[in-house]
Amino acid sequence: MSSEVEKAQAAASGADSGAPTIFDKIISKEIPAQVIYEDDQALAFRDISPQGPVHFLVIPKVRNGLTGLSKATEEHKPLLGHLLYVAAQVAKQEGLAKGYRVTINDGPDGSQSVYHLHLHIIGGRQMTWPPG
Ligand code: 5GP
Repeated sequence: MSSEVEKAQAAASGADSGAPTIFDKIISKEIPAQVIYEDDQALAFRDISPQGPVHFLVIPKVRNGLTGLSKATEEHKPLLGHLLYVAAQVAKQEGLAKGYRVTINDGPDGSQSVYHLHLHIIGGRQMTWPPG
């Protein structure tokens, strides 16, 4: 089993504990991150382990039960739309004119390792399909 899969499976066991995640510490500026966009609802920052020349994450500033996409309810609809819009605007700001990939990993099968909803935006190279 790859270390990525092991990490994702271990993370899933604490998913619904409500405990702060590493992203809460980035939001509160307790730990540093390269923030490239911020508004009242969303934060975008560079991934610490980039999978392409450009790789940033877009997260809601308040998790509000959204540990992952599968936890989305009717009340989250406006926020979900906002996060996608922010992803597109920041991708433009990052110069990804030729395209990019937006990914949301959900749950252990999706290899999610941080249980605070986040969109990955990866670009600056040719993507392939299917993803691993
Ligand atoms: P997931 O596997 O949950 O979809 O993605 C979590 C992402 O968060 C990974 O791509 C990982 O590299 C990134 N990440 C984890 N810890 C940190 C951190 O402390 N800082 C930043 N900038 N990214 C992180």
